[in-house]
Amino acid sequence: MARLGSWIKARPEGIYVAPADAWIDPSQPKAKALITHGHSDHARGGHGAVLATAETLAIMEVRCGPQNGQALAYDESIRVGEVDVRFVPAGHVLGSAQIVLDHKGERIVVSGDYKRRPDPTCACFVPVPCDIFITEATFGLPVFRHPDTGSEIDRLLHRLHSDPSRCVLVGAYALGKAQRIITELRARGHHDPIYFHGAIERLNQLYESFGVELGELRHTGGATKAEMAGHIVIAPPSALNDRWSRRLPDPVTAMASGWMRIRQRARQQNVELPLIISDHADWDELTMTIRELEPTEVWITHGREEALKHWCMTHQIKACELNLVGYEDDDD
Ligand SMILES: [Zn+2]
Ligand SMILES: [Zn+2]
Repeated sequence: MARLGSWIKARPEGIYVAPADAWIDPSQPKAKALITHGHSDHARGGHGAVLATAETLAIMEVRCGPQNGQALAYDESIRVGEVDVRFVPAGHVLGSAQIVLDHKGERIVVSGDYKRRPDPTCACFVPVPCDIFITEATFGLPVFRHPDTGSEIDRLLHRLHSDPSRCVLVGAYALGKAQRIITELRARGHHDPIYFHGAIERLNQLYESFGVELGELRHTGGATKAEMAGHIVIAPPSALNDRWSRRLPDPVTAMASGWMRIRQRARQQNVELPLIISDHADWDELTMTIRELEPTEVWITHGREEALKHWCMTHQIKACELNLVGYEDDDD
């Protein structure tokens, strides 16, 4: 009998599904690509044909130009070559999906990036029991335990209200994190206008076109310092220490990322108010998910594989690392 999952090949440039002749999140242009979500290290341009959720395809069109895409709704099943393919929510960003592959009685689930805690901007992760679970491990160390999101948002609001002459500038990844911070603020009762850096405008509009309500947003261009005092400004992390920020009224620099758990990272980026808000599963979510799915094997991709592999082995689950290249971990 063939080894479990022998029809899937981990190659440096991505996961190759042989009986479908298709690649998952390839880092090189391929004839047929299945894309888990729109972050740029997973969704690259130049593929012959793309299968993804409608949201992911729309994000790819904004970022990489026109796609020869086929949209698949969550839970809709499609036959690709000799494989049944289904996308189910991953809870990571708008449109993010795990890819469920069924072939000759074996089921493999490719998680893509995922998280388990609720996010007002996207559908919740759906656990799908499987034989092999291919999981990310961005925060695959026991030191990574993300705090409650609401309490991090409250710290942000407390800081904002403590000095109305300043603004709080929040660095947040342009796709997903920025829109999530805005909706989490709204959920905590903050309905003031929120200012944004031009780099996130198109993605804000895209989220709104898929029904995610962001409330009143204002472009920082054209606003005076006096107008922005006492307000929150959202910008991509690259803008935090940029000349651009000089137009803001004495900003308190904040950053929303799972990496803010590491004080040194916060210091390096001159972050005064680190907010530990992540779009990736933390250690407890990773291990809880594996417990819940009860896979025969776990294959671990981009991240800190070693500790999670060890955890699997102590829980009698066969585990191995996949060495894929080209995945960054700063989309958090
Ligand atoms: Zn991602
Ligand atoms: Zn990723």
